Amino acid sequence: MLSTMQDVPLTVTRILMHGSVVHGTAQVTTWTGEGAPRRRTFREVGGRSAALAHALREELGVERGERVGTLLWNNGEHLECYLAVPSMGAVLHTLNLRLPAEQLSWIVNHAADRVIIVNGSLLPLLAPLLPGLGSVEHIVVTGPGDRSLLDGCGARVHEYEALIQGRPAHYDWPELDEREAAVLCYTSGTTGDPKGVAYSHRSIYLHSMQVNSAESFAISGRDTLLPVVPMFHANAWGTPHAAFMAGASIVMPDRFLQPEPLAEMIESVRPTIAAAVPTIWQGLLAELEAKPRDVACLRNVYIGGAACPPALMKEFEERHGIRVVHAWGMTETSPLGTLAQPPAGVPDEDAWPYRVSQGRFPASVQARLTAPDGGRVPWDGTTAGELEVRGPWIAGAYYGGAAGEPFRPDDKFTEDGWLKTGDVGTITPDGYLTLTDRAKDVIKSGGEWISSVELENQLMGHPEVAEAAVVAVPDDKWGERPLAAVVLKEGATVDYEALRAFLAERIARWQLPERWTLIPAVPKTSVGKFDKKLLRKQYADGELD
Ligand code: ADP
Repeated sequence: MLSTMQDVPLTVTRILMHGSVVHGTAQVTTWTGEGAPRRRTFREVGGRSAALAHALREELGVERGERVGTLLWNNGEHLECYLAVPSMGAVLHTLNLRLPAEQLSWIVNHAADRVIIVNGSLLPLLAPLLPGLGSVEHIVVTGPGDRSLLDGCGARVHEYEALIQGRPAHYDWPELDEREAAVLCYTSGTTGDPKGVAYSHRSIYLHSMQVNSAESFAISGRDTLLPVVPMFHANAWGTPHAAFMAGASIVMPDRFLQPEPLAEMIESVRPTIAAAVPTIWQGLLAELEAKPRDVACLRNVYIGGAACPPALMKEFEERHGIRVVHAWGMTETSPLGTLAQPPAGVPDEDAWPYRVSQGRFPASVQARLTAPDGGRVPWDGTTAGELEVRGPWIAGAYYGGAAGEPFRPDDKFTEDGWLKTGDVGTITPDGYLTLTDRAKDVIKSGGEWISSVELENQLMGHPEVAEAAVVAVPDDKWGERPLAAVVLKEGATVDYEALRAFLAERIARWQLPERWTLIPAVPKTSVGKFDKKLLRKQYADGELD
C-alpha cells in the first residue's frame, strides 16, 4: 500500500525561499581585508539571487541543466550563486582555484561550462586558460582585480554588480524534480583524472537537515558560522546551504585565509561555529599563541578532511575553551559521513576515545567494512577493513561529462551499489569508526600494517613538533618501512633520537621509523591536506637527501 502523504520535491529552491523570508534578518558578512566588512541580510541575498537568476536566464541565456562555473572565494556573491543557479534549474559547478592549470582546464571542458563567474583577484589564474576553454562564452567578474587581463579573450565579459542591478528581486522559480543535479563538484584527482560528483537537490536538502541536527553541527538561528573550508571543497561541507536553511548568520572569509586575518575576523565578527581542515587550525593555534586574542565566541570548531591530531583538539580546548569536533567525509559523501560526538551520559574525562575517533554514522548513512578477499568484517572495534558506504547523499556514480555518457564507469562502486571509500579502519559494535589509514597510505611492513596516521598523531603530540607526516618507503628486508618527515616549532632543539624515544613510549617498537628527515613544511594538497603522494615520490628510493 502506498502512503497518503504529499510528494513534494526537496529542493535548494525551498532553502532559498525559506531562508530569505523566514530568516530574512540573518546576515552574511564578507571580510574585505581593509575597512568595514560587506554585510547583507538573508532577505537581500535572496533578492540578489533572484536578480542573478534573471540575468543568467535573460541576458546570458542559461538553460535548465546547463553548468555555470564559479571560480570564487568564500563570499556573499558565491552564496548567491549557490542559491540562484540550482534554483533556476541550472547546475552550479564549483571550480577548485588551487588545482594545477591543466586540471582546471580539463574540468571546465569536461563539464562544458558556458558561463564562469570569477573573482577579479583570480583573473591571473583564469585568463591564460581561456584560449583552451572552448565552451566558455561568458565571464562574469566580481570584486577587485585587473579586468584588462580579459582583453581579447573571445568571451563576453560582464560585471556582476552591473549585470544584476535593476533586475527584479523575485523570480518565478521552476518546479524541479528533486533528483536533478544541483551542484557539480570534482574530486581533486589525486589518482588520475578528476571525477565529477553531481549532488542532487534532494541530496543537498537532506544533507542540510543532517548538518543542522543536534548530533551533527547543530547549526541554529542563534549561531554565526565561519566556513573556512572552501566553497569549492564539497560545498564547504554543506554548511552554507545548511546555515541558510537554519537562519544562522554567516561570516565569509573571502581570500583572507591566513591565520592572522582569521584570528582578527573571529575576534571582531564573533562566529560561534567554524569548519576547516586540521592544517588551518594548526596555523590558528600558533597565531593565537604568538598574538593572543579573544576567540571565546567559538562554541564548536569542526575539523575534518584529514585525521585530526588529538593533540590539536586538546590544545584548543585547554588553552581557548573551544570544543573541537572531529568529522569524516569525502567529496562523494556530500561530505558528512561520520561525526565524533560521545555517547550520551559519558563524562567529559572519559569522552576522549570517542572524540578522537572519526565518529558515528547518521541514520541515513549505512556502513560496512570489507576484507581484501571481499568478505564482510565484523563491527568488533578491532578487525580492520575497507569502509564502504551507502545513503541518500552518497554518490552512486561519477558524471560522464557533457560530451560523454551520463555516468562514467568506475571501480569505486560495488556491484550492489555501495561506494568504496578507499579508507581502512575499524567500527565498534555501537558504530564508532576509527580510520587507521587511507588504503594507499598504509605502510605494509613484513606482512603487518603500520598506521601512518597513528605515528603522525603521536609525533604531533610532542610539544616541539609543529607538523609530522609519515609515508612508506621501500625497504629491502621488510618491503616497506615508515619514514617520518617532521616540521619543528620555532626554536625547537629536539633531535631524531629524542623523537624516537618519545614514540617508543607510545607505540610498538617494530613500528618505530628508522628514517627521519626535518623539513620546513609538509607539502599540502589543493584543499590544504598533507600531500603524502608528493612526499612518497620524493623519497621513493628510500634514500634521504
Ligand atoms: P581528496 O581525496 O582529494 O583529499 P576529499 O576531500 O574527498 O578529497 O577527501 C576525502 C578523504 O579524506 C577521505 O576518503 C579520507 O581519506 C580523508 N579524510 C576525510 N576526513 C577524515 C578524517 N576525519 N580522518 C581521516 N581521514 C579523513
